[in-house]
Amino acid sequence: MTVYSGPVFEMAVNQFGVIADHLSIPVDERARLLMPKRAITISCPIHRDDGTTAVFEGYRVQHHLTLGPTKGGTRFAASVDLGEVAALAIWMSWKCALVGLPYGGAKGGIGVDPSTLSKHELEALSRRYMQEMIPFVGPHTDVMAPDMGTNEQVMAWFMDTYSMYQGRTVTEIVTGKPVTAGGTLGRREATGRGVAYLTRRVLNDLQIALNGATAVVQGFGNVGSIAALELHNMGVKVIAVSDHTGALHRAAGLDIPALVEYAALRGSLMGYSNELAIDPQEILMLACDVVVPAAMERVIDAKVAEKLRCRVVAEGANGPTTPEADLILEKRQDEIFLIPDILCNSGGVVVSYFEWVQDLQQLFWEEEEVMRREYQILDRAFDRMVARAKRDKIFNRTAAMAMGVERVRGAKDTRGLFP
Ligand code: GLU
Repeated sequence: MTVYSGPVFEMAVNQFGVIADHLSIPVDERARLLMPKRAITISCPIHRDDGTTAVFEGYRVQHHLTLGPTKGGTRFAASVDLGEVAALAIWMSWKCALVGLPYGGAKGGIGVDPSTLSKHELEALSRRYMQEMIPFVGPHTDVMAPDMGTNEQVMAWFMDTYSMYQGRTVTEIVTGKPVTAGGTLGRREATGRGVAYLTRRVLNDLQIALNGATAVVQGFGNVGSIAALELHNMGVKVIAVSDHTGALHRAAGLDIPALVEYAALRGSLMGYSNELAIDPQEILMLACDVVVPAAMERVIDAKVAEKLRCRVVAEGANGPTTPEADLILEKRQDEIFLIPDILCNSGGVVVSYFEWVQDLQQLFWEEEEVMRREYQILDRAFDRMVARAKRDKIFNRTAAMAMGVERVRGAKDTRGLFP
């Protein structure tokens, strides 16, 4: 019996099973690696603007504490539940371990559609969430960050709430803060930049010229919009983009800088153009060089995987590909190069780590330094994944996850089981 349930959690369990089999991990050792250390569920009451009281359910799952504090984002979305948060926390563990950060994985969230809240209500809910979490988090226990539906402002409210309770400013309690409140240069762009950087590496390896290459980006939030912009700036033609309100397609390439500006102003792509509108379901299957799923989990299922007509899948989102789709992509790996999520989108948590280090030291870096170090870590992890996949003749996801799981397992083995 477990409190965790739902399709996303099942997916994380299924994926881990594949890796545990691959690594021949004894069955009795598996739950120790897979099951989260702690799960916290809270009720967050707030006053609404109309004077009524509303209560929202919030969660935080801390997967393992073996390598250091836990680390991971906070998601505000209607779909959030404990199972999804647990799966995302588990993925954060493999991600941090793969790229060599001294963290376990965590994730949190509130089941709320933030677009239904006024700014004042969003602030009240953010502050209440952090206040309820104070006994369970800390700069050396669990460090939050943004995820879907949260942003720098929400992180600033988290940091302020925690600091007010401590009686001093504790910037290192969360990452992804505004630069004016202890954040680092380059954090907001870090995930999208990393996605584009690794995509460029793969295109180079495949000898596909950037100029004239085409890309499709699903999701136009912090990750998708920056990835699209970076690819555009590299000379790649971004022929389709989408967000939760719809999709746009232009074979000659979309004006990405204009779209980024539009979405920043209006909050979404809605109303940008009727002429360019296309069925959002279709964009992943368009013929192109690169597909970047940067929205939700489980958007590439078996059906979509069969129909992909690209050379590279760069997973900006967490868990965008189902295990059934993985089996198909594994068979198609000579045609389609997969940059798996725990590597592809890891630039975000890598720069979060830099932010935490800078806050702890109160010594801040130039943006060039942040980017140089981010790319260095991504390059190293990419090289290791490719070498491992080649050596063992395995799928990129299997190689990446195996390296993440191995590191956690190694640390647990050497530390031993207390008492
Ligand atoms: N939410 C992001 C992720 O899924 C960032 C986490 C972090 O920076 O701690 O990787």
